[in-house]
Amino acid sequence: MRNLLALLLLLGGAFDDDADLVLRGAVVYDGTGGEGVVRDVAIKGDRILAVGEWKGTAKTTVDAQGLVAAPGFIDLHNHSDTGIVAEATRENYNFTSQGCTTVVTGNCGMGAVDVGKLLRTVDEQGAGTNVVHLIPHGAVRSQVFGSVRRAPTPDELAKMKELVEKGMKEGAFGLSTGLIYVPGTYAETEEIVELARVVHGHGGLYASHIRSEAAGLLDAIDEAISIGEKSGCPVQISHLKCSTKEAWGKMGEACAKIEAARARGVKVTADQYPYAASSTALASYTLPAWALEGGKVAERLSDPELGPKLRKEISESFDRRDNPNKLMIANFPKNKAYNGKSIDAIARASSRDPVDVVVEILKAGGAATIGFSMREEDMAVGMKKEWVATASDGSAKRPSDERPHPRNYGTFPRKIGLYALEKKSFALAFAIRSASGLPADILGLKDRGYLKAGYKADLVLFDPATFRDRATFEDPNQYSTGARWVTVNGVAVIADGKKTGALPGKGLRRG
Ligand SMILES: [Zn+2]
Repeated sequence: MRNLLALLLLLGGAFDDDADLVLRGAVVYDGTGGEGVVRDVAIKGDRILAVGEWKGTAKTTVDAQGLVAAPGFIDLHNHSDTGIVAEATRENYNFTSQGCTTVVTGNCGMGAVDVGKLLRTVDEQGAGTNVVHLIPHGAVRSQVFGSVRRAPTPDELAKMKELVEKGMKEGAFGLSTGLIYVPGTYAETEEIVELARVVHGHGGLYASHIRSEAAGLLDAIDEAISIGEKSGCPVQISHLKCSTKEAWGKMGEACAKIEAARARGVKVTADQYPYAASSTALASYTLPAWALEGGKVAERLSDPELGPKLRKEISESFDRRDNPNKLMIANFPKNKAYNGKSIDAIARASSRDPVDVVVEILKAGGAATIGFSMREEDMAVGMKKEWVATASDGSAKRPSDERPHPRNYGTFPRKIGLYALEKKSFALAFAIRSASGLPADILGLKDRGYLKAGYKADLVLFDPATFRDRATFEDPNQYSTGARWVTVNGVAVIADGKKTGALPGKGLRRG
C-alpha cells in the first residue's frame, strides 16, 4: 500500500507541474562517480521528482548556478549512539553542515542492542539525520555474560545469536565488532563467524574495528576477510589505517590483501577519515586489553605487582608513536583544564613523568584522547581506492569545553573541499561517490545515496568555493562552511545556508 502510494505520487509528479523545491541549474553529481552535469533538481514530498529540465512550478525555487548538487552523504562509521537521541545534539548539525544526511550507529561493537527501540525513538523524537544501525557485538556479549575474558558457553552463544536474530528482524543492517575493546577483544574468530552467519541469513553485513591497526594490521585484515568467507557476509573494514610506527608504510600491503580477496569474489570494502590522527580512550592507546578486563584499571594500576608492569606498557606505548607529545587529551571529565593539551605538555607544566600523568588520568576514570599515530602517506594510498568510503568515526556534537577530533565537524568537506577541489588528489566526482553511492551500495540501501528521480530526497547543495572543513586540532569546535541547502526526506535542515532546526531524520530499517 505504502509502495503503491509512493508510485502514484511519483507518477503524479511526472505529470503534475508542482514541486516543493527546485534547484535550478545546479551541477549535479549523481553519486555514481560520473561527471557533473547542469540540471534542475525537483523534489516533492520526501522524493526526488525529477533531475533534468524542470518546466513546472515550484513552491520554492533556488538559483543553483555554479553550485554542486549531490546525494546527501552517508556516514558509514559514526558513533552518535547516544547523541542522536539526546535533546541537545539530535539535530546533528555538526554532520548536516557537512552535507551528511544519514549516520550509521552501533559501530566498533558499541551501542544499542535493542535495535527496534532505538529506531522507534528516532522516529518519534526526530533527528537531523537518518539513522542506520548495526548490532554491536561487544554490547551483545556483555549483556549476555558480562565483560569477561573467556569464550561463551554454548548456552551463552545461543543467547547472543537470539539477540542478533532479533536485531536483524527489527531492521539492523548488520553486525559490528570492536576487537581491541573490552569485551569484543576476548572473542575468538569462531564466535564472530557464528554470529555473522545469523546476519548473513538476513542479508546483512559484517563491519569491524579489526583486532589490530598497528603491528598486527595484516593478520587482522586476514581475520576479517576469513569471517566474511566463512559466514557469507560482506565485510566492511572500519576506519582503515596504519597506526603507530609498527604499521607505517603498510597501507599498500593492506590494500593489496583486500584487493586479492575482492578479486576472488569476497565482498570486502573499507572506510576512512581524511586525517592522520585517530581518537579513542586513553586506556586503549596506552594499556593492553587484559588490563581493562572488568573495568578494573584503577585497581590494577595500584597493585604492587601489576602497577609497575602497566607503567612499562604505558611508557612503551609512547615509543610506538614517537613520544608522549603524540597523545592529546580531548576530554577529561575530571579536569577540563587538560582538554586540548598533550600528555607531554601536562607533564612538563607539573614537573612530572608523562607516565604519571597517564596513570593519574586512568585512575580518575580515563579520558577521550587524540593519537597522532598515522602518516599522511599511508592515508593517501587508502583514500584513492574506489572501494574506500568516506566515514567520520565521529558523533553528534555541539561546541563545548571538549576538544574533540576535528573529524566530528569536518570529515566530508575535507575530503571533497580540501583533497578533491584544492589539492586535486582525485576528481570531485570520485570524492562525492565515496560519500554517497558507495556507502549506500555497501549497506544495501535501495533508495538513497544517488541523486536520481524516485530516490528519497536526501541531498546537499554546496558552493565548491567555500565548502571546506574549518575544524582543526587546535580549534576543533568549528562547523564546516559552504553547504547552501541540505534536505533529509525532502525537508530542509539547512535552507539558504542556515540551519532550520527541523528534525526530519528517520530510523531506517533493512528490507
Ligand atoms: Zn573503531
